[in-house]
Amino acid sequence: MDVKEIRKAVCEAGLRMCSTGLVAGTWGNISARVDQTHMLITPSGMDYKTLKPEDIVLVNIHDLKYEGTLKPSLETPLHAAIYRERPGINAVIHTHSTNACTVAAAHKEIPPILDDMVQIIGGSLRVASYALPGTDELVEYAIEKLEGRNAVILANHGPVCLGRSIEEAFVTCQVVEKAARVFIDAQLLGGAVRLKDEDVAFMHKFFLEKYGQK
Ligand SMILES: [Zn+2]
Repeated sequence: MDVKEIRKAVCEAGLRMCSTGLVAGTWGNISARVDQTHMLITPSGMDYKTLKPEDIVLVNIHDLKYEGTLKPSLETPLHAAIYRERPGINAVIHTHSTNACTVAAAHKEIPPILDDMVQIIGGSLRVASYALPGTDELVEYAIEKLEGRNAVILANHGPVCLGRSIEEAFVTCQVVEKAARVFIDAQLLGGAVRLKDEDVAFMHKFFLEKYGQK
């Protein structure tokens, strides 16, 4: 995808994030990698319904300098750090989806309990310690808990979901929200049963490699 197409895809993901109920209002943020130095990210506090492709902000992931007059999302340092740390990741979506937020409020790590969850997330869904939005601490805690995973829950806040494409990051958001819902509901039945570590590793590898095969 070229820069123009990525801008459009980020806008479309914003609309979809609202229409599927993953966020309300102007919360949440979406970014996509452009190259080894730049990302495109939603601007701070703008309505997804009126967002235009040219409003998406081009940011240098190393020094966080940006082009244009619109300020990039408050969580720009976190998105940039993810692209620096994770070369295979090309899209990051942060939502405030309800069940993931319940888990965030309770500081409960979701163990590996569902096949789709472990395929796309890579194992348990960890909770990063609380830090104020936009701070260095938030970046540090989130990056630490993202090791070997494609999603993390920010304590008392919401999920951050990664993908090799915007589409994949969007699916990560949906699977995170479903896993949170199932984890909560399973408490009524005596609690979810954890998958074995070797099965988790196999499923994640299968997911990552299946697209590369003929
Ligand atoms: Zn947020």
